[in-house]
Amino acid sequence: NRVPRIQLDDGHSIPQLGFGVFKVEPTETERIVADALEIGYRHLDTARIYGNEEGVGRAVAASGLPREELFITTKLWNDDQGTQSAFDAFEASLDRLGLEHVDLYLIHWPVPAQDRYVESWRALERIRESGRARSIGVSNFMVPHLERLRDETDVVPAVDQIELHPAHQQPEVVEYAAEHGIAVQSWGPLGQGKYPLLEMPEVTEPAEAHGRTPAQVVIRWHLQRGFIVFPKSNRRERMAENFDVLDFALSEDEMDRITAIERAGRLGPDPQHFG
Ligand code: NAD
Repeated sequence: NRVPRIQLDDGHSIPQLGFGVFKVEPTETERIVADALEIGYRHLDTARIYGNEEGVGRAVAASGLPREELFITTKLWNDDQGTQSAFDAFEASLDRLGLEHVDLYLIHWPVPAQDRYVESWRALERIRESGRARSIGVSNFMVPHLERLRDETDVVPAVDQIELHPAHQQPEVVEYAAEHGIAVQSWGPLGQGKYPLLEMPEVTEPAEAHGRTPAQVVIRWHLQRGFIVFPKSNRRERMAENFDVLDFALSEDEMDRITAIERAGRLGPDPQHFG
């Protein structure tokens, strides 16, 4: 499988293209993840709050794939932030996944109002030391949250998973991450179907020119920007389409046109106030 890997600052590496399971029904997850693995995805992104870790674990076990070929991420939910509560939540996630270790464990949201993300990060540092999460990172952390971790803790997050798609590119976070060796993961990479990204001429014209679909063009844009991306679909043909993006490249002009879509409009909650 030819998916490029991104080198993380902690010495591990991650497949740049994966499969996300937000809003995949728990009862359907095993089948959908089995399809994804059959298509060739080896990087899976789940979270405790998605309620489908068991299904992910069952599909992984049934696949018979060697564990070292897979890269599996899950996340600490807001209510579980703290020290002992984070340890317990992590163990419970591993149990549900049926795994001995995850490749990446993330704090899902900073939740500044409860002011426990620094404490939670120290718990993740210890989880990493135990070897049961190979890498640790954060999600939805903006620059001030990353700065606080830098001031008050020892380990730099390996990744920051943030809302990122052409209309919302978060240049401050991306620049900070580049300066500090934090890899960026794009969530909602296709705009979650919430704005007509796949119908915009900036996307459809290169799609026509390359004989590709608009979704493939947007996924290429993420890959060529250096972001880690894991689009979600319940539909096998779209999963295959989203994975089939490794044999063409957008030109610099095509990239620039898509980048110019930026209009600083987030689709999801504001991380400063969510939770
Ligand atoms: P996405 O941008 O991947 O959009 C998914 C939707 O796009 C699908 O439901 C479908 O309607 C459409 N779609 C998918 N493939 C398509 C195709 N080929 N053609 C046309 N339409 C297509 O949004 P997402 O699922 O929210 O984000 C991806 C992953 O990011 C999630 O599954 C999850 O793993 C992660 N995520 C993380 C957070 C976080 O807070 N950390 C938040 C949201 C999502």
